Amino acid sequence: MLQNIRVVLVNTSHPGNIGGAARAMKNMGLTRLVLVEPQDFPSHEASARASGADDILAAAQVVGSLEDALVGCNLVLGTSARERSLPWPLIDPRECGTKSVEHAAQGEEIALVFGREHAGLTNDELQRCHFHVHIPSNPDFSSLNLGAAVQVLAYEVRMAWLAIAGEQAGGDKPQAAAPGVSELVTMDEMELFYGHLEKTLVDIGFLDPEKPRQLMPRLRRLYGRSGVDRSEMSILRGILTETQKVVRGEPHKRKDQ
Ligand code: SAH
Repeated sequence: MLQNIRVVLVNTSHPGNIGGAARAMKNMGLTRLVLVEPQDFPSHEASARASGADDILAAAQVVGSLEDALVGCNLVLGTSARERSLPWPLIDPRECGTKSVEHAAQGEEIALVFGREHAGLTNDELQRCHFHVHIPSNPDFSSLNLGAAVQVLAYEVRMAWLAIAGEQAGGDKPQAAAPGVSELVTMDEMELFYGHLEKTLVDIGFLDPEKPRQLMPRLRRLYGRSGVDRSEMSILRGILTETQKVVRGEPHKRKDQ
């Protein structure tokens, strides 16, 4: 089940932090590390700080964008040390652990996303997440070292996972639920939808590309909060397709009315 939970590090500058994150993950039983444009990887320093978690580093996937890192993910939890201008559904590390394990147990794919040492995650990156996770640190000194932040979340994931193990009669290891088709759509399907939605809103004149304001981020927050499933997505895409036909003056479902 824990293999469904990936740790994504965005644009990390210090390779030592990548090693520290790998060590923290392995200590807590997490195995999947995805690196978005790391500034220095692979590196000797990363291996040194991994202290035996080299297998995690060797298997780490290096990708060019956050979008690539989130392919196939159903639930994305993005971490932030500070509040953002457009507030997002916010949870603490404990809720993050519980949510991650609950979804992983349903066979879903989860990403825990961490930002740059100096600048964290951009607003655009955070708006790709369903929830924001804040470690309730000292408000006067709120930013943890990247490896330490990974450690806190990985620990909470492990505690939630062990709690499920305790509930399962006779078993010493939590088992994933019977593999089935995941209900929640994946992030790549959501991105295609947002592209379709944005284009449609421009076509009907609701969204002015010159003055987009915060419309798309607000809609991302709305749909992200809803947890859209497969059948709901096909309704949403169907509505957009029919709307575009009306805009183009093409035959559509209710053309005779
Ligand atoms: N200066 C940056 C902080 C970067 S710390 C900023 O102002 O955003 C590097 C990363 O560690 C963050 O992007 C986040 O992923 C994680 N992190 C550090 N402190 C955190 C906290 N209190 N809560 C959640 N994540 C935190």
